[in-house]
Amino acid sequence: MSATTAAGPPAQGTPGSEPPLIRIRSLSKAYRRGRLDIPVLEDINLDVRSGEFVALMGPSGSGKTTLLNLIAGIDQASSGTIEIAGVDIATLSEGQLADWRAANVGFIFQFYNLLPVLTAFENIELPLLLTRLSPRERGERVDALLALVGLADRADHRPNELSGGQQQRVAIARALVTDPRLIVADEPTGDLDRTTGEEVLQLMDRLVRELGKTIVMVTHDPKAAAKAQRMVHLEKGVLVDEAPA
Ligand code: ADP
Ligand code: MG
Repeated sequence: MSATTAAGPPAQGTPGSEPPLIRIRSLSKAYRRGRLDIPVLEDINLDVRSGEFVALMGPSGSGKTTLLNLIAGIDQASSGTIEIAGVDIATLSEGQLADWRAANVGFIFQFYNLLPVLTAFENIELPLLLTRLSPRERGERVDALLALVGLADRADHRPNELSGGQQQRVAIARALVTDPRLIVADEPTGDLDRTTGEEVLQLMDRLVRELGKTIVMVTHDPKAAAKAQRMVHLEKGVLVDEAPA
């Protein structure tokens, strides 16, 4: 298997000696509709190094969310491989995959996906309830993240008492709380005005530079993509080119 990937097609990515955190080879995905297979991703090859901030661009319907979901292990490929930190995620059982995701991947969504009945503190704490941390340890982590995203004074606010930008910062803190290596973000500034979107992007930039996170961010906003270190473009399911930001 490793022989196949080693001899496989060249991938988009910056050459380097360190193995990439994400290594995608010959990845294809089709959705089945009735008797038809509808191809969505075709022969994707992509490497993302640890500590990279990559923007995934492309028009609506080009397969960006599908690719992000495959990378995050919440959807299954039709063919090809995705290795993350050397683990071929298709080899994991459903239970192993859930554990792997909880430990390794933080999600940020366009519409924040916060629970409306929980406070900012409780929303951020939620992923930690699945861990063995004590309430005190959980509280310390949540407080540290509230401070990191500049919301220490909003801990007891519910989402409807926060602005869109503040809600997205809570969502970013929630994505970070288990200290995952990889953050996937699907149009994280898509529902924000320009200024607020800039603040969220600056925060994401800090996650890469100060905390060493790896981010794959879907966007169709070139200004948002320019904040990333690298852009990759999807056109009708094919990765077409790449330009340094
Ligand atoms: P993007 O995020 O770039 O807008 P998506 O990855 O959401 O694109 O969708 C790519 C294509 O796959 C679209 O044509 C969409 O209709 C189709 N698609 C996405 N999810 C499903 C699904 N669960 N079943 C069938 N088709 C889907
Ligand atoms: Mg999408």
